[in-house]
Amino acid sequence: MARTQGHGNPKWTRDETILALDLYLQLDGVVPSPKSASVIELSNMLRSLPYHQEAAKQPTFRNPDGVGFKLMNIRQVATGKGLGNVSSMDRQVWAEFGHRKDEVHRIASAIKTGIEVAGLEPLPEIDQELPEGRLLTALHVRRERNPKLRKLLLEARRGEGLCCEICEVTRQDLDTSMQEAMFEAHHLVPLADAGERKTKLSDLALLCANCHRLIHRAMVLHSRWVDIDHAREILRQASAHRRNSR
Ligand SMILES: [Zn+2]
Ligand SMILES: [Zn+2]
Repeated sequence: MARTQGHGNPKWTRDETILALDLYLQLDGVVPSPKSASVIELSNMLRSLPYHQEAAKQPTFRNPDGVGFKLMNIRQVATGKGLGNVSSMDRQVWAEFGHRKDEVHRIASAIKTGIEVAGLEPLPEIDQELPEGRLLTALHVRRERNPKLRKLLLEARRGEGLCCEICEVTRQDLDTSMQEAMFEAHHLVPLADAGERKTKLSDLALLCANCHRLIHRAMVLHSRWVDIDHAREILRQASAHRRNSR
């Protein structure tokens, strides 16, 4: 499935582009030589991301020269000067994050921690990649799907009746296992802050499967972390808008 360019290397992913943007912003727009320690360090990190495993065996994959070119492409998007081969991912990540230096740095640090946290356990497939990129999204989904935590959450909420924290849907007429099938755990800690901490029950919200998809979709559309109150507000405004336009 890897699409290729240049030396047959896969296209840069969102995570990888965020890591390069972080270096560009940390150096205040000065593009260092491919021989510099910062470029070599980034090259090594990109080669250790837990995907592209096959490609990463190629010596040209994200090598310091390739990283240098990517930094020049980012500079081109940032300044409008240059003749490089800028990708749509470069433009998109710059449009979303080019003026959010501190946030980019927090996300980049979380991706670095995420490489350690991911370990050798397989990462789940994801269908909606959040703005922070594939690795942090996959770790978020892996935390949410942890069967032990899901069980604890359902047990803790059973007493008060299972109810979605966004739309408040509840089906207490159904038997327990049918009710449980409606709900999913959503991890409340923003992707860039989750790091190595162990998930606690208080880090999880109980959402119906619909609202869980909606809150993730809202994060993709807003290119920001969306909390439960914000998600409720989005739904409330949409229904108010609909009432008014009738
Ligand atoms: Zn709901
Ligand atoms: Zn979630």
